[in-house]
Amino acid sequence: VTATIRILPPEIASQIAAGEVVERPASAVKELLENALDAHARTIVVEVEQGGRRRIRISDDGDGIPAAETQLALERHGTSKLSTIEDLDSIRTLGFRGEALASISAVARVTLTSRFRTGTQGARIRVEGGKIVSPPAAAGCPQGTVVEVEDLFYNVPARLKFLKSEVTERRHIDSLVSRYALAYPLVRFRLLTDGRESLHTSGSGDRREVLSDVFGLEIAARMLELSVPVVEGRIRVEGFISPTDVSHANRKDILLFVNGRPIADAALATAVVQAYHTLLMVGRYPRAALFVDMPPEDVDVNVHPAKAEVRFRSPDAVFSAIQRTVRQTLMMQSPVPEVRPPDTWPQPSWSGGHAAVPMPEWMLDHQPVTAPDTPGAPQSPPQAFSGMDRMPLLRVLGQIGATYLVAEGPDGLYLIDQHAAHERVLFEAVMGARREETAAQTLLVPEVVDFPPAQAKILEGQMDSLRRIGFDVELFGGGSFQVRALPNTLGSLSPSEALRAVVQDIEEDETPLAAEAEARMIARICKRAAVKAGHVLGAEEQAALVRALEQCQSPRSCPHGRPTMVHLPVALLERQFGRK
Ligand code: ADP
Ligand code: MG
Repeated sequence: VTATIRILPPEIASQIAAGEVVERPASAVKELLENALDAHARTIVVEVEQGGRRRIRISDDGDGIPAAETQLALERHGTSKLSTIEDLDSIRTLGFRGEALASISAVARVTLTSRFRTGTQGARIRVEGGKIVSPPAAAGCPQGTVVEVEDLFYNVPARLKFLKSEVTERRHIDSLVSRYALAYPLVRFRLLTDGRESLHTSGSGDRREVLSDVFGLEIAARMLELSVPVVEGRIRVEGFISPTDVSHANRKDILLFVNGRPIADAALATAVVQAYHTLLMVGRYPRAALFVDMPPEDVDVNVHPAKAEVRFRSPDAVFSAIQRTVRQTLMMQSPVPEVRPPDTWPQPSWSGGHAAVPMPEWMLDHQPVTAPDTPGAPQSPPQAFSGMDRMPLLRVLGQIGATYLVAEGPDGLYLIDQHAAHERVLFEAVMGARREETAAQTLLVPEVVDFPPAQAKILEGQMDSLRRIGFDVELFGGGSFQVRALPNTLGSLSPSEALRAVVQDIEEDETPLAAEAEARMIARICKRAAVKAGHVLGAEEQAALVRALEQCQSPRSCPHGRPTMVHLPVALLERQFGRK
């Protein structure tokens, strides 16, 4: 093979460059939307056919393009938004590279029709695969611009091959247009998909109204508005977040915007997730639409041709501004549960008795990792959230339906779900053990567990996590795993049950942080190991379970978010019995 260096013909070079900007139909829609917004449009109509492959048509009532410049607009580096390199530091428009129209024109058949603000008539030009097929000519049209993109990638078969299904492309376009609609509530957006209207916003400026178009009426009505738009240094954050009882299976509904630009930023999404720490069940995520504003010179949007990622001058400041705002709003607006302990609990009359209760065998290894708070002493939470969730010390009265424990507290009656409570106890014990040298319980006979290839692959990825929490497990070959020891805390759980819990319900397209994935995995194992409903517990087992629950950091919910207990306060009982 002789390597001869040649300069690529301009058509090929521009097709390659176009690929960086226009990856799929939604990227073309994004660029055209941004152009309309940059041109101060008040109404934008997006029409797509066949997931955008057949046709994308975006009409706006913005400033328009002077007839003499329509051809320039389609040329590479043709832009009205940037003239000196210094301008790059203070970009206030969404576009600035002068590449979008040129790129789209290189890989589709594009018709641009526009009438400038002060023009008396419009102009139309048509380009196919980067070549002008109809030069600019006068055309009657209202003020504004219409860009019609037909047969996207018709001349780039390789790209066409990689497009996902029509449904997927449509979903991308839907979510993209929704995001811009959220970012620009003063602009009316209409999205027509194969002739059917799939989004229509009013342009009234009311963002909650747009939220209901995006998340649905019910959720939108419940979203919390960030109480005070926090201004931290030069960073301002406003928007909406879900209350703690409205959660989502993944992070995809954490929508972030910086200076009116939808962005993808895993770290900032994590800032939001972390602000909900202990307030959401494991494996559940908040929804949010957060709008961050900062001086343009503090953020670099010129990182990627598609401008989906940005780089901050001080990422930590943005992270903390978001986290603080979200947390403050949650603290102010979601009322602390009714059963929140006051600063000092009254000394329960029966206190002191329970220490003598011996632990039953199945509880012996579930000793909590933290020392219990002294009843009567003020509680000083080790971190922001863990303290407010504590429960009072309870006197266990018995078990009903082989499922619930009944207990008395300083303020009324408690019903405890034994399975959920035990899940919580195990979960915190295993999570705690992770940080220490783990006590493992060696099996008399190592057990070999087999998995089909897909599951074996998942399990292989979890080996480190498993070892960290006290499993002695090794790949045995051919989808088989050998378990020699289990964490002590899991007591009676069989190796096969434990490993099956690990591979169960893994959401593959989800890429949560490693720590979250590990917590979810542990929660699944603990669910298997926890005592089941319908299992009769002796008095000592009941007491031991409640003791262990009292010492948990978040005793009120199981790791999956179900409540572990229901509280009937004295006041409620008195009302019910007509005493008050
Ligand atoms: P950029 O947006 O980076 O400047 P584009 O290739 O997207 O580059 O657009 C080139 C130029 O065409 C813009 O700078 C603008 O002057 C003009 N233009 C494109 N679309 C519109 C529109 N919808 N309304 C008014 N002007 C437009
Ligand atoms: Mg542009």
